[in-house]
Amino acid sequence: MQGVISPREAQQLALGGDQDPGEKRDWAAEVVKKRSEVPARELESGETCCVCCDEMGKDEDLSHCRFGCGRLTHTDCLMRAFKHNQSSAKNMQCPLCRTNWGANGIELLKEN
Ligand SMILES: [Zn+2]
Ligand SMILES: [Zn+2]
Repeated sequence: MQGVISPREAQQLALGGDQDPGEKRDWAAEVVKKRSEVPARELESGETCCVCCDEMGKDEDLSHCRFGCGRLTHTDCLMRAFKHNQSSAKNMQCPLCRTNWGANGIELLKEN
């Protein structure tokens, strides 16, 4: 569909290119203290959730990446991604822009 970019493209845009792969940070131990939150981007018609690839509707339960790209995903899908993060790396990352939500990402999402 024209005007719709793939999650991969969106990720690259959000990152502004590839990040240094040599950089290793102990995300799990890092507590993100100061955060500036970003507003949700407006849902474009036909925009798909980056996790499940289904089209998102305005009346669905959506959450945006509050600390990074601001893009919308289904709340359940973002929760699923965070739980996957939790089981593997312990840090919650936006599946699109890889912004670290910190170890309490799931709690932050719940209170949203
Ligand atoms: Zn989804
Ligand atoms: Zn993001």
